[in-house]
Amino acid sequence: MTGLLNEIKALIAERGPITIEQFMQLSLSHPEHGYYMNRDPFGAAGDFTTAPEISQMFGELVGLWAAEVWSTMGSPNPVRLVELGPGRGTLMSDALRAARIAPQFREALDVWLLEMSPTLAMMQHELLLECGAPVAWAQALKDIPEGPAIVIGNEFLDALPVRQFVRVSGQWRERTVRLNPDGSLAYDVSPTAETLIHARAPNGEILEVSAVGHRFMYELAGRLAKQRGAALIIDYGHAVTGFGETLQALRAHRSVDPLALPGDCDITAHVDFAAMARSASAAGAAVYGPIDQGHFLKAIGIDLRTKALTDRASPERADELRRARNRLVGKAKGEMGALFQAIAVADRKTPAPPGFQPAVAKTA
Ligand code: SAH
Repeated sequence: MTGLLNEIKALIAERGPITIEQFMQLSLSHPEHGYYMNRDPFGAAGDFTTAPEISQMFGELVGLWAAEVWSTMGSPNPVRLVELGPGRGTLMSDALRAARIAPQFREALDVWLLEMSPTLAMMQHELLLECGAPVAWAQALKDIPEGPAIVIGNEFLDALPVRQFVRVSGQWRERTVRLNPDGSLAYDVSPTAETLIHARAPNGEILEVSAVGHRFMYELAGRLAKQRGAALIIDYGHAVTGFGETLQALRAHRSVDPLALPGDCDITAHVDFAAMARSASAAGAAVYGPIDQGHFLKAIGIDLRTKALTDRASPERADELRRARNRLVGKAKGEMGALFQAIAVADRKTPAPPGFQPAVAKTA
C-alpha cells in the first residue's frame, strides 16, 4: 500500500470525503508522495510516453515555430521562452538546438521552466546544462519576470486537477471520494446540490470542470495580452465542451483504477479546449485553433524535416524516423495526430502564428 493511500484514508476518516479535485491534486503533487514529485514517469520503462520523447522532430519543429513567432512579434530582446511542465527537458533541448539557425533569436532568449517536481527539475537542469541559453525555474507564472514571452506547453494542462459533477435526481452534485467500512476508497457524491451549473443532462451524466485550468489559462492569456507574446498548448482533449468522464490513470502504459494507487500512477483528464479558449478570450487574448496535432505538425513542416533527416540517416534510423513521424501525425489507434489538439493564444498585435493561419485552420 502506498504512503499516500494511507494518508488519504486518514484524511477522509478525520474530515469526511474529499473532492475529485483534491484527490487528483494530492495524487500528482503531494510534496513527498505525489506522482510527479519523485520519479521519471516517461518512456518505455515508465508509465507513458509523450511526443517529444517519441521524436526529436517534435521539439525541433516547436523551436522553429517559436523563432518564427518571435520575428513576427518584432524580435523583442530579451524574450522569455517559457515551457510549462517540461518533463525530462527533451522538448526544450531539441527546440534550442534547432533554433541555432536563428542566432538573433537564440541571443534574445531567457529560458524559464515552470516545474513543480524537484526530481524532474534536476533532470531538466542536467540536460540543459550546455544549451547555451540562460535557464531558470519557476513554480508559478507570476514568478517569471515581466515582458514579452513565448510559451510552450505539451501535456501540461491534462495534469491540472478537475472537478467532477454527477447528475443525481435532476441536480448536479460534486463527485467525491469516501472511505468504505472495509477500508477501501469509493466514489460518492456530495450531499448538497451545485446550483451555479445550469446545464441540463440525464441522471447519471458527468460534467468535468477544471477550475485550476481556467484560472491558469486566464492568468497566462492576460499576461500575454498585456505584455505581448504567444503560447502554444498541445494536449489530448476535445474541441467542444461536452458531458462524460475522461479521468484516467495509467501505470506501465496500462489503464488502472484511479482510486487504487494514488501517487503511483499518472492521473489525467482530457483538456476541454473550448473552455480554455473561452478563458483566454475573456482575458483579452486572441485564440487560434484548436486544430489537430497531425494538421499542425504538417503545416509547420514535419514532412520536410523527416525527409531532411532520413536522407542523411542509415536505413534503420530512416525507418525509425518515418515510424515516429507516423505516430505523431497519424490518425489510427495508438497514433497521436487526431487525438491531440493544438491551440495558440496570443496578444492581438501578433499575427496568427505558423500552423494556425486561416487557410490551414479551415482544412483542419
Ligand atoms: N511536457 C513534457 C512532460 C509532460 S508531463 C512532455 O511532453 O514530455 C507533465 C509535466 O508537468 C511534468 O513535468 C510535471 O511535473 C509538470 N506539472 C504538472 N502539474 C504542474 C503544476 N501544477 N505546476 C508545474 N508543473 C507541473
